[in-house]
Amino acid sequence: MILALAGGTGGSKIVDGLAQVVGQDDLVAIVNTGDDGDFYGLRVCPDLDINMYVLARVVDGRGWGFADDTFRCLEGLETYGNEAWFGLGDRDLATHLHRTARLAEGLPLSEVTRELCDRLGVAARLLPMTDDTVRTRIRTTSGEHSFQEYLVRDGASEDIERIEMRGVASSHPAPGVIEAIEAADRVVICPSSPIVSIGTILAVPGVRPALAARRDEVVAISPIVVNAPVEGPAARFLAGAGYRECSAVQMARLYADVAGTFVLDEQDVARVPVLEDFGVRARATEIVMREPADRPRLAEFALNAVTA
Ligand code: GDP
Repeated sequence: MILALAGGTGGSKIVDGLAQVVGQDDLVAIVNTGDDGDFYGLRVCPDLDINMYVLARVVDGRGWGFADDTFRCLEGLETYGNEAWFGLGDRDLATHLHRTARLAEGLPLSEVTRELCDRLGVAARLLPMTDDTVRTRIRTTSGEHSFQEYLVRDGASEDIERIEMRGVASSHPAPGVIEAIEAADRVVICPSSPIVSIGTILAVPGVRPALAARRDEVVAISPIVVNAPVEGPAARFLAGAGYRECSAVQMARLYADVAGTFVLDEQDVARVPVLEDFGVRARATEIVMREPADRPRLAEFALNAVTA
């Protein structure tokens, strides 16, 4: 079995690639839930849903949400004076309605996720990092914001003073999380945000030591090329967490205790000896996934890098 640790947009590309290389039956993914939130009384889990829709082959071309969705309900909510900056399509809302109802019946998120995946024909196992409530809170000069308010509503336009993963210290790994880390043949840390996607998963008590015990089988893929993320505001999150440097070297350092192997971009090939100096096996390739075929290619490269 191959295990992935994933956030949303960047993570799901490699989860997709791994599914194509090893098959969904042999794939488990532990997914960040710190970005989850409640909209109009409904529980929305953006990272779980991106991965689920990608694996179910129903994802929209833009990379999130259901393909060809309509937004009539959201338009109606706006008519009634509600804020409508988070794009929840009509078909997508069915996922959140069903999830919220099942959670209210007392099912844990991991069980509801399994039910949604089964119904959508996803054979891979998607595990929320925890069934407990963990919420990433972002403090800027204008105040404290939820993750989605900061990223989607405000376009990550302000520098971050502080990032809090509220609830994480008292959270427990969801059923199957530690078992999957222990049983995996290889573990791939996807090129997701190192602070607010992977960092949140690693902060769930028990996850980091379990991964550290498997360090030789763990490979991380850089989300950063030279001094910039492939896309998105990862540099702001790094700075907000106290890391001034945004680079593959910084990434490899952040993961050095849990990932014995690190995949960085060929433009960063000169940094390979730097990584090897602090005990990380480094392999360089093209890490920007522009075309669909880049996903299985990079996934396979990462899996092979563990032993190559
Ligand atoms: P979020 O939860 O939706 O923010 O998504 P993730 O945390 O999973 O992914 C965000 C990260 O993915 C960003 O830091 C990007 O640099 C990275 N990313 C996006 N596309 C690619 C890609 O094609 N290749 C690599 N290596 N990283 C990518």
